Amino acid sequence: MTLQIPFDNSYAALPESFYARVPPTPVKEPSLIAFNTALARDLGMDGLDDPELAAIFAGNVVPNGATPLAQLYAGHQFGQYNPQLGDGRAVLLGETVGTDGVRRDIQLKGSGQTPFSRRGDGRAWLGPVLREYVVSEAMHALGVPTTRALAAVRTGQAVIRERPLPGAVLTRVAQSHLRVGTFQVFAARGDTDALRTLFDYAVARHYPDATDPALFLDAVMRKQAALVAQWLSIGFIHGVMNTDNCSISGETIDYGPCAFMDSYHPETVYSSIDRYGRYSYAAQADIIVWNMAQLATALLPLMPDPEAAVEPFTAKIHQMPEMIRSEWHQRFAAKIGITNPASDDATLVTDLLNLTQEAKADFTNTFRGLVDGTARDQFLDTAGFDAWSQRWKARIEREDDPDAVMRRANPVLIPRNHRIEQMITAATQEDDRLFHRLMSAYADPYVATADTEDLRRPPLDSEVVQATFCGT
Ligand code: AMP
Ligand code: MG
Repeated sequence: MTLQIPFDNSYAALPESFYARVPPTPVKEPSLIAFNTALARDLGMDGLDDPELAAIFAGNVVPNGATPLAQLYAGHQFGQYNPQLGDGRAVLLGETVGTDGVRRDIQLKGSGQTPFSRRGDGRAWLGPVLREYVVSEAMHALGVPTTRALAAVRTGQAVIRERPLPGAVLTRVAQSHLRVGTFQVFAARGDTDALRTLFDYAVARHYPDATDPALFLDAVMRKQAALVAQWLSIGFIHGVMNTDNCSISGETIDYGPCAFMDSYHPETVYSSIDRYGRYSYAAQADIIVWNMAQLATALLPLMPDPEAAVEPFTAKIHQMPEMIRSEWHQRFAAKIGITNPASDDATLVTDLLNLTQEAKADFTNTFRGLVDGTARDQFLDTAGFDAWSQRWKARIEREDDPDAVMRRANPVLIPRNHRIEQMITAATQEDDRLFHRLMSAYADPYVATADTEDLRRPPLDSEVVQATFCGT
């Protein structure tokens, strides 16, 4: 049976200035690495046994009802405004309304050049494609709002980076690919009509109650504050929080040199291009405020009196650090078994974090160890931990079921960088076994099992990943 995708495309009905219509560029020899059948069903697809899946998700066969296009956007990259980015190596095939009633984009990434490719080849190599596949699906299983991975296909073509590497195409699914940078591009051009059309579209699609720009800003801020607090709570470092990689729907988007922290240090950076630590682990809480300030600026032209709106918008942005702090407090309190934290519980959390930092202890295993009984093993200076532990035990006596709370807040498994690297190295040699093993292990990250025990282990010195790369 041929694959049926019940397309219901709304973006393609927006003005032509929002995108460039461009089909994916066919590849030499598509072969399917993975297809997410459960997700495909949720999206309303049928005919999932189609032998042509590889050709479809490589971009060689454009499915019925698709209206392929590359979206326009701009964005601040490491603080510098770039007036035109856009999908340089992606095409949106269209949208479906899933079995849950939610509209979602289906996008090919690595599918060839578009009018927004600038000097790029429009392609992706296998490494970043598989990293995004595994990490985005793991994030979903961890309970974090994120784009999803629907398919990964080898192209049978080399991609030239520093050396020739195997090419691949990822199909990803998002509540939308609207970004802060989508608003910025029209605001910067002074195209207020387009900006208003985009605003109305984003409101209808994501925040139907946000009837004016101030309410909309507030809604996006809340989603992003919750998202970043969740990242921090599992040690996730996005790596490139440019405004074009910051989604309006509040999902984690554009996985590039992302990484999970092993031993705890707030200034941890993995991305090879983040030289000054702008997007380090702890800086994420500040940078998201900066990004929301850029969204606020882009929304000003929609206000009846933009000048007069500067002050209330600024005041709103100034509320965001407290919003994040409160989300952070809730998340980290849960990690130590506390459900409704009082303000002085924050010290208990930060004291443990300080001990963890001093000991260079593993972030994930320390917190999970609190409920598994192995936390103390993470510390050489056990006296410091024991003193903390006494205070902690006295505090959680007042909680109903702290163990259950901790089991839900502290994953056993995270996609550790060294495992991702090992998986990519194997896949580069056509061996996808580790990819499939990681996919099944990370599907249930809060449960300890004997056969995933080795995946809990932090990297050996020889396995530590020092830097991650965009791979573009
Ligand atoms: P990203 O790092 O994926 O967020 O991409 C930043 C910008 O560079 C986006 O406009 C991408 O479409 C573009 N880009 C990244 N890699 C390529 C490539 N290989 N070819 C064309 N454009 C690219
Ligand atoms: Mg991007």
